[in-house]
Amino acid sequence: MFIGHHAVAFAAKPLAPRVSLGTLFAAAILLDMIWPILLLAGIEHVRVAPGITAFTPLDFYDYPVTHSLLAVLGWSVLAAIVYWLFRKSMRDSLVVGALVLSHWVLDFITHRPDLPLWPAGPNVGLGLWNSVAATVVIEVALFVLGLVLYLRATEARDRIGSIALWALVVFLVIVYVANLFSPPPPDQRTIGFAGLAQWLFVPWGWWIDKHRRVRG
Ligand SMILES: [Zn+2]
Repeated sequence: MFIGHHAVAFAAKPLAPRVSLGTLFAAAILLDMIWPILLLAGIEHVRVAPGITAFTPLDFYDYPVTHSLLAVLGWSVLAAIVYWLFRKSMRDSLVVGALVLSHWVLDFITHRPDLPLWPAGPNVGLGLWNSVAATVVIEVALFVLGLVLYLRATEARDRIGSIALWALVVFLVIVYVANLFSPPPPDQRTIGFAGLAQWLFVPWGWWIDKHRRVRG
């Protein structure tokens, strides 16, 4: 899943109003931020296999550190602890940890059975990606819902507060649509470098957050 993860980050804002949107993004997409680094380092592996699912040609055959359930539970706890060390809010830390875990749950719904429960353990996945139409309908619906919840929870302090937010929304939609119609990437290296773009959402989210306030 792609914009579904951003949707969950938006939706979390009313639950944890003091947590920056940048942090919420970082938590929701943490696994996909670490994944390209491990691909480029040759620690995790992906191959291009057109037709493996209707939605994506990527065969995620080896990603136990970023996407096995056991490891993800570890990443969630770690993220919650790190957030707690900086901000000392139990509730906000729990939201951050839950967001990290939410990534695996959404991936579980979308991926074919390629998500290991633990490294070298059995693989699971409900395979929403076997239908492009179902994937797009569900993911776009999630995204709209998340965005509406975020818009109800916050308001722009100034023009940048609107422009930066809507620019991000438009950017996400363009990347999502472009992904649907672009040819499969050539190799793991290209996928790794493209994946690093996920890091962009963290400063972008922080920037948006600085120019919006929680509605009182
Ligand atoms: Zn993922």
